[in-house]
Amino acid sequence: MLNKIILSSLNIVPKPIVKIFAKNYIAGETLDEAINTVKKLNAINCRTSIDLLGEYVESKEQALKEMDIRYNVLDGIIDSNLNSNQSIKLTSLGLGIDFEFCYENTLNIVKYAKERNIFVRMDMEDSPYHDKTIAIYKKFRDEGYDNVGVVIQSYMKRALEDLQELSKYNASIRLCKGIYVEPEKLAFKTYDSINDNYKLLLNYLFDNNMYVGIATHDDVLIDYAISEVEKRNLSKDAYEFQMLLGVRELKRDEIIRLGHNMRIYVSFGKDWYGYSMRRFKENPKIAGHVFKALFTGGK
Ligand SMILES: Cc1cc2nc3c(=O)[nH]c(=O)nc-3n(C[C@H](O)[C@H](O)[C@H](O)COP(=O)(O)OP(=O)(O)OC[C@H]3O[C@@H](n4cnc5c(N)ncnc54)[C@H](O)[C@@H]3O)c2cc1C
Repeated sequence: MLNKIILSSLNIVPKPIVKIFAKNYIAGETLDEAINTVKKLNAINCRTSIDLLGEYVESKEQALKEMDIRYNVLDGIIDSNLNSNQSIKLTSLGLGIDFEFCYENTLNIVKYAKERNIFVRMDMEDSPYHDKTIAIYKKFRDEGYDNVGVVIQSYMKRALEDLQELSKYNASIRLCKGIYVEPEKLAFKTYDSINDNYKLLLNYLFDNNMYVGIATHDDVLIDYAISEVEKRNLSKDAYEFQMLLGVRELKRDEIIRLGHNMRIYVSFGKDWYGYSMRRFKENPKIAGHVFKALFTGGK
């Protein structure tokens, strides 16, 4: 109950207070800051995926405005010799405005990345964009671009069907629980049903030799994944674990110590506010700290 009150009050928290906590989750506002963060993570054996913050855009001009930064990310990966790929959200490239326009924008990034031997992960957003995201993925693959991957969310009831379709492409999949609020008709709602589906999907991926990024901070799922990996005697290049920057770092280090590959999702950009609010809403404990800081001035 208290958590609910805190969460619903979060929107009135002043930006400077949110920023104090956002610092843990965001590499910074600039690409240089992101590159520095990635260097530090690479030094402790973490691969990364760099994400320029930003979601749904209202106009084509807005979608095109930040294209250069996305190329700069790819150049930065090469110039600084980083062990990183790039994650992108298709609504930030116009998926909500015009399918072909978004496809062209994304293609330009994927092409630029392919020339530099860099992989591009297309994040999965809310359900109105699922079919379109998968359609764009398939279009890339049909046209010979193999440096792309998608994301499957285990809270979606359609997830297994999507994986069956994507298995025809031997797609590289990031498997996560899903972060958006979806209607009950489309999505599982309880912790157990989402986790049960996660396990089912993970087994499907392993059974079908599809590369999987196991993107979760949940001990239950991490332990399950490790036990399946061991049982199946999977090679290290069949899977990796993935976590968000600033979340459960001790667990992250433990997974690395056990010898598994780990990739950290590193977000940067001016649009840090919306991203941080989503992270806080995900984790009431942190939301509680933010709320407390309201009264203490963050001290
Ligand atoms: C690399 C990566 C990429 C992702 N990409 C997408 C995507 O493309 N589309 C999408 O819909 N979702 C994406 N997500 C988000 C994901 O769907 C979940 O919402 C999020 O990871 C929380 O679920 P969980 O599996 O960690 O389990 P949960 O059950 O939510 O969390 C397990 C435990 O982890 C800790 N924890 C979780 N989140 C936080 C946090 N923010 N801060 C501190 N501790 C925390 C808590 O201790 C919690 O008890 C991604 C997640 C990761 C790690």
